[in-house]
Order: sequence, then structure tokens, then C-alpha cells
Amino acid sequence: MKRSRKAKIVATLGPATSSQQAIEELFLAGADVFRLNFSHGSHADHQARYDIIRGIEQKFGRPIGVLADLQGPKLRVANFADGKVQLKAGQAFRLDLDTTLGDDRRVNLPHPQVFAALQVGSELLLDDGRVRLKVQRHGPDFAETVVLTPGELSNHKGLNVPNVVLPLSPLTEKDRTDLDFALAMGADWVALSFVQRAEDVLEMKRLVGDRARIMSKLEKPSAIEHLDAIIEFSDGIMVARGDLGVECPPETVPILQKRIIRAARKAGKPVVVATQMLDSMVHAPAPTRAEASDVATAVYDGADAVMLSAETASGDFPIDAVTIMHRIIERVEEDSEYQLIREASRPLPTGTTRDAISAAARQVAHTLAVSAVVTFTSSGSTTLRAARERPDVPILCLTPDVLVARQMALAWGIHSVVAPDVRSFAEMVAVAVDIAHEQGFANWREQIVITAGVPFGTPGTTNILRVAVVEEP
Ligand code: PGA
Ligand code: MN
Repeated sequence: MKRSRKAKIVATLGPATSSQQAIEELFLAGADVFRLNFSHGSHADHQARYDIIRGIEQKFGRPIGVLADLQGPKLRVANFADGKVQLKAGQAFRLDLDTTLGDDRRVNLPHPQVFAALQVGSELLLDDGRVRLKVQRHGPDFAETVVLTPGELSNHKGLNVPNVVLPLSPLTEKDRTDLDFALAMGADWVALSFVQRAEDVLEMKRLVGDRARIMSKLEKPSAIEHLDAIIEFSDGIMVARGDLGVECPPETVPILQKRIIRAARKAGKPVVVATQMLDSMVHAPAPTRAEASDVATAVYDGADAVMLSAETASGDFPIDAVTIMHRIIERVEEDSEYQLIREASRPLPTGTTRDAISAAARQVAHTLAVSAVVTFTSSGSTTLRAARERPDVPILCLTPDVLVARQMALAWGIHSVVAPDVRSFAEMVAVAVDIAHEQGFANWREQIVITAGVPFGTPGTTNILRVAVVEEP
């Protein structure tokens, strides 16, 4: 079974999509990667969904990616005596470490690091930016603020502090427990929330090793300041527009989206555009025109994948959301304008043998009108460099490592197949031809381009390109 599109779909699982039937329908409708969101649900919930995904993988013989998304240091106020308060414009409001229940004068904020990092004039955003406060005085255990944007504030609402680099580890105690669990379960990708600097990614890398690939969620202004360094140490990037649009003014989100995608594509790291893509489909069976346009824009921008959150996790129309997303992507990819944009935005190959081979493979693929680029890889890195070239034809990833095959499900244009290492040229051609034909990517007498490394079986040696005719044995 093969997909007819290059850009991939990530679908978040949740209460609306926990059954075998629902997850299988999402997969058949087009979900390539499933996101398990550790901000919600128990370990048992995630394990049950994970087991269902692996069962579907077996049933259809297709590697499926699993992305475990860690909550990260999401800051929250504590509770109020009456559950909620109304804050008025211009009134004073205090945040402190006192654990007594809050009222309309003060509330507990159980994060001393925030008080330590504040400055007079810093803005505090509560409840996704609905309520805004400005700091007037602060100490090690309190902040006195004035209300800029009034509104209701209720128990346990989130707090964002834009433009302040907080001395917070990106991994809370909960995240560390969740990470151990996700890795033991067998997640292929792990996502790190609220990354602020490259060291955050390195800290995560020390814990993860090579057990999974690391995706950095870009949702803070400080992350944008360190964009290139964060991308360099990450394996993938998420444009996490939910929190990004709270921390930064919403009018900057489209610009940051394009900038992040361009930087990630230049580095050859898969990039996912996330949040509110088809938001109205949480309650409606069809998207708004603006939402259809948003998904299309992400594809025109060159994203590797687009993501659904509440639409599939808790919405009323999860399967329809994936179906529509699939149709929008397909339609864009048929557009000649899209092909021109893709051509014009392709990053140049760097001065490595692997990039030279990948660029040549794309060139040959277009000159000879071959059916597919077939890459032999042990780590997946060669295949990602081939995807960075954004060729017109599908990219097959032949790897002996099932983890790599699953990880590549997230990346643009890649169709993975688990296949044993080859030991000779003759075997390489025979295996490539056989799999390309058997998986429906090439008809008899069509041609394919093959890239591999000699000596065979040595990682990181991609140095040959071979054109082969798909001959009937
Ligand atoms: P979240 O991340 O859903 O975990 O908050 C995505 C985002 O902020 O856009
Ligand atoms: Mn977020």
C-alpha cells in the first residue's frame, strides 16, 4: 500500500480515537505518524494506543511513526477559593509562593524560577494570552502586577512569559518519567516542548541517545533567536503555533512559520506545521476556507508534515479531518505552481559526497523520467538528504532497521521498507528493482535511480548512483 502524496500527516490520538477501529480508519484515511500527547492521558492510555498502532503496522505491512510529545515546563497558576475570578483593567494583582487559595487580589504561582527571571515591565500572559499582566514590582517570591487585558482567570490556567529566558530545564520530573516510559514503549520520535536554547536539546539528547529521534517544538521567542543552533542539534522541528502565537504576536506567526521551514529544509531536518490547522472540524464536518488555505500554505512552504491535534484527539470528526487534509495536500501537489515553488526554494547541496549523489539522483530522475529514487541506508541520513532535494518522484528508503523505517514516515516523500543489507552490486540492483515493483512504484521496463554506499554495509558511505531498468525476472 502506497500513499499518493509527498507531504505527511501527523494525527494526535486521544479519547475520540482510542479504539482499534478508529486508529485503523485514521491510518487508512492518511495518517502516517501518530502523536501521543503526554500533556493528557495516563501511561496505560498511551500504551494501549501504541499497541494498537503496532498491530495495524503488522496487518498492513507498513512502518508507522509514533511521536511521543512531552508536556515540558508548562507554567500554571494554582487554584482560587471560588474556582475563578474576574480581573478588571488597571487593577493590581499579585502572584506569589503562598499556597493559600487565590482571590481577585492574588494567586499562588508555584514557580520560583519565574520570579527570579522577571523584570519591571515584563508581561505575563495567562490562559493562552486572554489575560495580560504587567510586572511593577517583584522579589524572589512575589510579583506585583497591573492588569493590562482584563478577563476571567480560573483554576490551573497556563502562564506564558514571552521574551524572558527562564532558568528552567526543558524537562520536568513528569517529563523525565514520561520520557523513560515512551522510550521503553518504543516511540520513534520524542518531542521536547518550550525549547529555549540549543543546550535544552543537548540535555534531551544525553537522555535519549540513539533510541529515538528528537523533535524540538519551537514555541518561544528565545527559540527563534537561537533557531539555527537548535535546528543543528535536533533531528526534527515542529512549528508549534499554539503557544508560539501566544508568546509572539499572532501577526508574526505566518512569517515565523516560513522562516522556520526554510531553515529546517536548508538543514535537511523534517519540519512539521502544527496546531489549529482544521480547528473548526473539532465540531464541524467540513473545514473553513481559511483552514483549507492554511494546510495548503504549509505544503506550498515545503513542510514535511502537517499535524492535527484536537481535531483527531477529541473532535467529533477525526476521520473526516484526516481525509480532508489528505485531499488538500494531494491537490496542492498536483498544482504546477507548487512544482515551480518547490524548484525555486530547493536548498543547494553542501560539499559532501552524500549531497553530491543526492543532487545527482534528483537530476537523473528528472532527465530520464524514472519512477523512483531508491536509497539504501542504515541510519536514514542518506534518505533524508535525498528528501532535502525534493525530487518529483517518490523516495524509497530501504533499511534493515525497523526504527529507521518508522522514523522516516514523518519525512517528505519517503516510503520505507525494511529490507536486509545487500552485499554486492548485483544484489543491490535486484533488491531495489524487486521492492520498487512489488510496492507499486515502478512498472516493468521503467527505470529507477539507486543510491548506496560501497563497501556495502558500512554506515555513512553513500558514494554510488546507479540507473537500473525494472526487468521482469
Ligand atoms: P501543544 O504543542 O499542543 O503541546 O501545546 C503545540 C503547540 O503549542 O502548538
Ligand atoms: Mn505548545
